[in-house]
Amino acid sequence: MDVSKNFGSMAFNDKVMRERLPKSTYKELKQAISENQPLPLEVANVVANAMKDWAIEKGATHFTHWFQPLSGVTAEKHDSFISPTPEGGVIMEFSGKELIKGEPDASSFPSGGLRSTFEARGYTSWDPTSYAFIKDGTLCIPTAFCSYNGEALDKKTPLLKSMHAINSAAKRILKLFGAPDSVEVTTTVGAEQEYFLVDKKYFDLRKDLLFTGRTLYGALPPKGQELEDHYFGTIKSRVSAYMKELDEELWKLGVLAKTKHNEVAPAQHELAPVFTTTNIATDHNQLTMEIMQKVAKRHGLVCLLHEKPFAGINGSGKHNNWSISTSDGTNLLNPGKSPEDNAQFLLFLAAIIKGIDEYQELLRISVASAGNDHRLGANEAPPAIISIFLGDELTEILDSIEKGYKLDKRKKTLMRIGVDFMPPFAKDTTDRNRTSPFAFTGNKFEFRMPGSSASISAANTVLNTIIAAELTEFADELEKATDFNEALSDLIKRTIKEHKRIIFNGNGYDKAWIDEAEKRGLLNLKSTPEALKYMLEKKDVEIFEKFHVFTANEIKSRYEIHIDNYCKILNIEAKTMLDMAKTDIIPAVGKYTAQLLETAKLKKEFGLSTTPESDIAAELSDKSVAMFNSVKTLSVLAEQAKNISDEQARAEFYHNEVIPAMESLRHAADSAELLTDGAMWPMPGYKDLLFGI
Ligand code: ADP
Ligand code: MG
Repeated sequence: MDVSKNFGSMAFNDKVMRERLPKSTYKELKQAISENQPLPLEVANVVANAMKDWAIEKGATHFTHWFQPLSGVTAEKHDSFISPTPEGGVIMEFSGKELIKGEPDASSFPSGGLRSTFEARGYTSWDPTSYAFIKDGTLCIPTAFCSYNGEALDKKTPLLKSMHAINSAAKRILKLFGAPDSVEVTTTVGAEQEYFLVDKKYFDLRKDLLFTGRTLYGALPPKGQELEDHYFGTIKSRVSAYMKELDEELWKLGVLAKTKHNEVAPAQHELAPVFTTTNIATDHNQLTMEIMQKVAKRHGLVCLLHEKPFAGINGSGKHNNWSISTSDGTNLLNPGKSPEDNAQFLLFLAAIIKGIDEYQELLRISVASAGNDHRLGANEAPPAIISIFLGDELTEILDSIEKGYKLDKRKKTLMRIGVDFMPPFAKDTTDRNRTSPFAFTGNKFEFRMPGSSASISAANTVLNTIIAAELTEFADELEKATDFNEALSDLIKRTIKEHKRIIFNGNGYDKAWIDEAEKRGLLNLKSTPEALKYMLEKKDVEIFEKFHVFTANEIKSRYEIHIDNYCKILNIEAKTMLDMAKTDIIPAVGKYTAQLLETAKLKKEFGLSTTPESDIAAELSDKSVAMFNSVKTLSVLAEQAKNISDEQARAEFYHNEVIPAMESLRHAADSAELLTDGAMWPMPGYKDLLFGI
């Protein structure tokens, strides 16, 4: 494949627009995008027509508004381009109106009470900042999705609003440092995506994987990930063929797939793209997840995106690398080479430190899900406590600024912000501190808490909004100052002093950190129900309202969807466990026990020793009793949970009562698996799933 020729061949990107749109239309489109203004219909008509011609040349017959409802997956409803002619034929048509606005029947998408089912209408509207693309013969138009009353029902709308907020706030700051009015600010993201691949023939035999995306049972094989021989290891040829095709498919769509490698756990892999504007990165990550699953099927594989498909083995996350950059490509989180640049960097850094500290709960909520609960705080993942890693040297620089002392080591005197150079500090590339949830990696922050299956929209909406809030506060203060440099110094020093508790460079997996974090007053929200409670806190609602990212109503509805989703997932998991125990596992153990007893009986007739058969049969019989007792307990609790009307109480009940019951059922079943003839176990085990490719 000629990569450079094929890259973006299925995307209506800037290059295509330049080629295919009349100059004036192109200019008007670009202007509408940069000024965040709706496109006039005449212009939209021209764009739509060019898009249609391009799409038809590429073999497309349909178009769809491609959107991201709150169900978590992307949605599409395909319409063909055909339009009947009086002579009984058809012509291919696509109007500006169809491009700009769609009205899908939205009644079945979650809305958390924002839209009753009788008011089924919802609007999708074109997001011209993200390129249209062709997938399976359909022209897909990235769109935002709103209710009839204009309330956001999707993940794109708030993200776009948060980008608008940080743009306005950051521009005020940059102006104070002498930037021209024309400068625009966006955030950039590169989302590293982890995933597992399992053989489809094994996947199909596991009800738990089919219904819940994770294994609800399964004893660990003798070898897990302890040798760490999989990480960056040689890629097996079948996986390699998969990755190759995946890259090619993504490149055609204009997704900047860059790095691929094996991850820590057996059968676990990662794909990282080159970073781009947050909005596009978010769309592209959704596409990446979709294409990952689709291409896997063609290779007889299944791609698991669940955060914790296997117990006792690393889970999958999505490292959200995030930075702020200007329209001329300057990365604002790059410590500069001049005193002014450094001062500006320090101010942005201070805003981030303050924002993360003040709104810890929002970041935690943005990654909360039933799946991610297995991961946060588990052996390989960041703990549920939010903290920032800056590295020792940058931390020392901040310390010297705060306390006004000499950085002896480098023979530097007291650093005066805006006047002196910041001493150069090493990027922490050796340590990489994999235990920090939010780590500075030289010129960007890596937020490591998002789960592998989640959209990155929520995390970035929060990041953009809270930093916009802090930058706005800073701008309010600095714009009033008579002596800018003095006010700047003062502000940075004060911010470090007041918010340094959020900085932690040590080992986040250390138990001592949990106590230390508590002493510092940091939040440790261990589960989704615990985290979601904070969604409705006054200060957290207010910040979103202030920056027009969410209305209070939208937050309330999202809270309801979120908590309902958590309960539904646990209900499905509990039901699947019960079904597997009753109809697969207990019967299989029974059959094997009978076989053992039969053998023991025969042996006895021949005067032979009946061990081990009789002993194993006795043990298995005990395990069956334990399983059956757990089944009874879990059934009762799962039924009870469903009847709790208060949603918060219901979610907490699932967390506090149902999950432990699921765990004890699993424990009994997994120990029975270790005693049962492998050929008689009713489903493929971890050995096949993890090492079967
Ligand atoms: P690693 O973390 O493996 O050292 P990199 O630091 O190069 O690799 O990048 C990891 C991810 O961070 C990649 O997806 C990359 O594109 C992204 N990234 C790099 N720079 C930025 C930036 N300024 N903004 C957002 N993401 C970035
Ligand atoms: Mg990384």
